[in-house]
Amino acid sequence: MRDVSAAPGTAVFLDRDGTLNHDRGYVTSPEQLVLFPGVPEAIARLNHLGVMVLLVTNQSAIGRGMMTIEGLELIHERLAELIRPYGASIDGIFFCPHRPQDGCGCRKPKAGLIDQAVNRFALDLSQCYLVGDKRSDLEVAQTVSVPGVLVMTSSYSADVVKARDEGQLPIEYVADSFVDAVDWIEQQIVTRGNRIGLGR
Ligand SMILES: [Zn+2]
Repeated sequence: MRDVSAAPGTAVFLDRDGTLNHDRGYVTSPEQLVLFPGVPEAIARLNHLGVMVLLVTNQSAIGRGMMTIEGLELIHERLAELIRPYGASIDGIFFCPHRPQDGCGCRKPKAGLIDQAVNRFALDLSQCYLVGDKRSDLEVAQTVSVPGVLVMTSSYSADVVKARDEGQLPIEYVADSFVDAVDWIEQQIVTRGNRIGLGR
């Protein structure tokens, strides 16, 4: 464990499907949640840095009638069980249950889920990061002005790099995996912490 911890109000926003676990269309039952290698240990490292680890996830399967909110809670209990043996935990879960055509303000790329998190935890967005595999994730990061980290772990990721290359979308860091993403974020936080420690 490092002796540097994050500034108050620091959060790392994590997308779920395609970022932490294999994206297999709709995950509607606990056994369909299969984490990528190293994810529990990487979340534990974020916990040790003292950042808030917050899930922000579109779950339109609820609005489509394929899953209930209670069903989603069971999946998130499963997630907690899978990471707990590694000393890892998620501090908050924000989900959008709506369908795209519902026109809500919370379905990513809208920023409603981030707004909810900021209000609940008094976050300092200038200290936050977002990790995701889809264009909608990186668009949210852009909207709320936090560094966006793209993980190349789903079939959606390549299109996001293309959008970046065409100048449509900023990406702060492109990571091969969630572990790589956390390595980068940890390095950013430690560098900032050291700078503050030296009086800038
Ligand atoms: Zn919504």
